[in-house]
Amino acid sequence: MKDTYRHKGLRQQLAEQIKKKGIIDSAVLEAINKVPRHLFMDSSFLEFAYEDKPFPIGSGQTISQPYTVAFQTELLEIKKGDKVLEVGTGSGYQACILMELGARLYTIERQKSLYIKTKSFLASMGYKPKAISYGDGYKGLPAFAPFDKIIVTAGAPYVPSELIEQLKPGGHLVIPVGTDLQEMKRITKLDDNNIKEEKHGSFRFVPLLTDKAND
Ligand code: SAH
Repeated sequence: MKDTYRHKGLRQQLAEQIKKKGIIDSAVLEAINKVPRHLFMDSSFLEFAYEDKPFPIGSGQTISQPYTVAFQTELLEIKKGDKVLEVGTGSGYQACILMELGARLYTIERQKSLYIKTKSFLASMGYKPKAISYGDGYKGLPAFAPFDKIIVTAGAPYVPSELIEQLKPGGHLVIPVGTDLQEMKRITKLDDNNIKEEKHGSFRFVPLLTDKAND
């Protein structure tokens, strides 16, 4: 599958649309403009790739809505070279947006089939995460901690303390918290190790799984 002028044009329109919805960070918009989202989706959904909507990616999971990807990314305030942990690799789209912004990216996925598929897909695209890991994101990635930023891309029933522990002072954890509907939280670890919490509106994500993955 190729990235054609038509795809590029549609992507530009998508970035414009997201900007109108309130994303102001130009580096984030540029990343949306750059990453060929249609390649991250099953071919039957190709024509929908540049609508601002979530879509199924197999294994009962979804690729997040572009606006939501941009919103979470903006909240992270990525600086080039930041060491970033993503919980919920899924299609790898969010991971690539973060890498376009210069993140050194570590990502973890609970579903083996998706982990295998996305790992080889990212390699074929030429994207190089520092690590793609198969495991339980509730535990973070202690072997590589601490991180400048942590993003959770599935709805968490609560904020896992392990993720806060694995955050550097000054770092952000962006996490949608709730069961049916999630509240987007940005948790900042202050230099004295205290926590600051902000709320950034309601979103709907697939759940962060606690039980064994159905591989
Ligand atoms: N960031 C992804 C969004 C995928 S949806 C993208 O850009 O496409 C959320 C993902 O979280 C799913 O792939 C799901 O399998 C994964 N997930 C759910 N529970 C998890 C857990 N406990 N640990 C790691 N990943 C988990």
